[in-house]
Amino acid sequence: MALLVYKFGGTSVGSAERIKAVADKVKKAHDMGDQIVVVLSAMSGETNRLIALAKQMQAQPTEREMDVLISTGEQVTVALLTMALHDLGCEASSYTGAQVKILTDSSFTKARIRKIDDAKLRKDLDAGKVVVVAGFQGVDELGNITTLGRGGSDTTAVAIAAALKADECHIYTDVDGVYTTDPRVEPKARRLDHITFEEMLEMASLGSKVLQIRSVEFAGKYNVALRVLSSFKEGNGTLITYEDTQMESALISGIAFNRDEAKLTITGVPDLPGVAFKILGPIADANIEVDMIVQNIADDATTDFTFTVDRKDYQRALALLEQTCADLGARKVTGDNTIVKVSIVGVGMRSHAGIASTMFKTLAEEGINIRMIATSEIKISVVVDEKYLELAVRALHAAFELDKISA
Ligand code: ADP
Ligand code: ASP
Ligand code: MG
Repeated sequence: MALLVYKFGGTSVGSAERIKAVADKVKKAHDMGDQIVVVLSAMSGETNRLIALAKQMQAQPTEREMDVLISTGEQVTVALLTMALHDLGCEASSYTGAQVKILTDSSFTKARIRKIDDAKLRKDLDAGKVVVVAGFQGVDELGNITTLGRGGSDTTAVAIAAALKADECHIYTDVDGVYTTDPRVEPKARRLDHITFEEMLEMASLGSKVLQIRSVEFAGKYNVALRVLSSFKEGNGTLITYEDTQMESALISGIAFNRDEAKLTITGVPDLPGVAFKILGPIADANIEVDMIVQNIADDATTDFTFTVDRKDYQRALALLEQTCADLGARKVTGDNTIVKVSIVGVGMRSHAGIASTMFKTLAEEGINIRMIATSEIKISVVVDEKYLELAVRALHAAFELDKISA
């Protein structure tokens, strides 16, 4: 008898029929004798619908009220699935995050899980029941409802799997695994049987929304056996592996991209100690996350400084930088919120030279101008104009032969 955590995403519970199909699948697994905890997202589009409604009430609602609102989508699906299971004669109970007691910090809309009380879950499982838990939400020490950031149901599932020491955590979604890149952008993308935990972490943090990054971090920390599979078709999906040995001998495992980038530049900054801090300090104080940072070498005792932020923070960051420009007596501030970041990821990069030059050559041949570059041990990221996103991803996919199965 295995203890399994199954998570179903928005598309998988997007209609009454789909919820019934999930109930069938869960019942089958339960009938085989396994103990099952199900974690659900809201119906697809529901969280966006709720956010749009909130904006009609107030331009900037408080994050606390946002969480009270957007956590409701998951409460609907867990109740409906539990009813569908009852209808099939399968014993089940649904719980909100607060009812389980998924304790989080109080960072509304991006809370972190601190502790999960497994008592209720274990009691129900021991009684032979299926447990259905609302994803994406928790409760803070004061009893406030919190949410875990977009895509957060993945993290709920992995955290519950870790707390219960589950045998496996299955993330059921609308694709049948992790692909070499988003199959919506490159139809020739290939499903990977395995991906290393490190690579998955990079892919998620560089924009592949197939798994929320925190779920991957959690899985790594607690060694959760994690698999991404399709809700709609049979198959083994993609297993996230923790061994350091390469499962596939490819140099590059995947291409990730992020459409939500914006960049800001301040030029003619006096080149003195403390300048980077003076530029980024106010940005950090405003709780704006900075991603890539480039400072040019000065040739006239001034320097240029460029960094990227999430597009939603662009206007705020621009206003802060204008102020810094005036304070520092710098030349000017420019910005661009029509850029994207494209990254290649692979543990094979560690032991092979020439990957960066292949990447740059490929982009040059397509006439794509690279605006910024960042590298780490297992990834190379470039910033390009958003109109080149699809072209860049497909050209790199072909250049690194990601459509071909590696030996
Ligand atoms: P869910 O609602 O089930 O959580 P998501 O939309 O969050 O589903 O994640 C699944 C989507 O992730 C896919 O439909 C796909 O377009 C996208 N995606 C991005 N990168 C990848 C990748 N490398 N492999 C598979 N899917 C990816
Ligand atoms: N419903 C939430 C969202 O759309 C959480 C999730 O689906 O994982 O982001
Ligand atoms: Mg998701």
